[in-house]
Amino acid sequence: MVLDTATLRVAFGVMALVLGLLFYFSSYRTTRSPYSGWWCLALVFFLSGSAAFLLNGTPHQWWANTLGNGLLVHGGVAVWAGACSLRDLRPRRWPFTGLPVVTLVASAVDHPGTNTWAGGAVFLAAMCLSIGFASRELWRLEPGYSRVRVPMAAAAAAMSVFYFGRLVYFLLEGPDGPTFVTFFGSAVTTLVTMVLLVVVSFSMAALSTEQQTRALRMVATLDDLTGLLNRKAFLDLASELLNDRALAQGTGALILADLDHFKEVNDTHGHAAGDLALQAFAGACRDTVRTTDLVGRYGGEEFVLLIPGATAGLAEEIAEEISRHLAQVPTSGGLQMPTVSYGVALYDAGTSDLEDLFASADRALYAAKSLGRNRTVLSDPQG
Ligand code: GH3
Ligand code: MG
Ligand code: MG
Repeated sequence: MVLDTATLRVAFGVMALVLGLLFYFSSYRTTRSPYSGWWCLALVFFLSGSAAFLLNGTPHQWWANTLGNGLLVHGGVAVWAGACSLRDLRPRRWPFTGLPVVTLVASAVDHPGTNTWAGGAVFLAAMCLSIGFASRELWRLEPGYSRVRVPMAAAAAAMSVFYFGRLVYFLLEGPDGPTFVTFFGSAVTTLVTMVLLVVVSFSMAALSTEQQTRALRMVATLDDLTGLLNRKAFLDLASELLNDRALAQGTGALILADLDHFKEVNDTHGHAAGDLALQAFAGACRDTVRTTDLVGRYGGEEFVLLIPGATAGLAEEIAEEISRHLAQVPTSGGLQMPTVSYGVALYDAGTSDLEDLFASADRALYAAKSLGRNRTVLSDPQG
């Protein structure tokens, strides 16, 4: 059976168009995620590049063939950019414009009017590289990210290896060689590409659903006013950390913080000003602690921090630093940022009960309030 390349290209074009439209309406329009945008763009490039080759053998071949090579390489580069965007990386500029431009130039100077394989080696190398790099980025996605990471990375790797094989036999035998025509010719390539486009489109659609689920789960763990962890998320993470001694480095500090006379801020300046002060305190915490420390809103104007590895001295310094940051926040309308009282409880390798730890920190906080507020008190380990 001889597969007719032109027929296959038409079938491929129709399939890419349908996939592109389906993907645009079902995924990109609802998620607006960069990777689904890149994937739509890649499908458009593959579709138009493949369509350009239908003009082979006509008087338009000289420009259509050159443009087709450039468009297909642009498709490969768009796949790479999409893979980068999944890892929140900015696509690099030089390959994005460089690879298609080099391919265009190489094709244009290689007698494209009479040679349907003008710039063939450069084209094959550019496809192999761009899709190979896409595979590398997909492989590097966090393993917990998705079950679709492996099929996508493997599909891209298979495609890149296939183009590498095409390049090798193109250089060894030329485009009319028996192995090239049988295993790496245009008909086989069109078939292989069709199968892989379906695999990737299917995985991409699954991925966008998964990303939305992750985003929702993330929102459910955050306090909506301050963006800090909410009480439940803080407690979950803190008990996980306490139970994992290797992570907790054995010791650390729990700091409870309560804004002083906060009710007066609300009463004098209004609830909105109170909200602003709460957000400012959250900002002061974020500016002070490491990203590996936990900061949560425990409720109302009470906050809680878990600082693995902190000593009593360090916990006190952190509390002072937070208060200093808070006092420096610019305000208007006569509003003064409230001072803050802190209660600190230390934990060590023997501590496993989070409730006890909270109770100690709470007693220390109560003492800080009774002693006149705007201070840090360390809980007495003897209770
Ligand atoms: P103390 O120094 O003893 O802690 O006095 P306080 O006024 O800070 O404490 P109190 O418990 O009497 O008042 C806490 C106030 O925090 C009362 C409540 O209206 C206010 N509050 C709780 N949650 C919010 C919030 O989300 N936004 C605003 N603006 N106020 C809040
Ligand atoms: Mg309070
Ligand atoms: Mg208070």
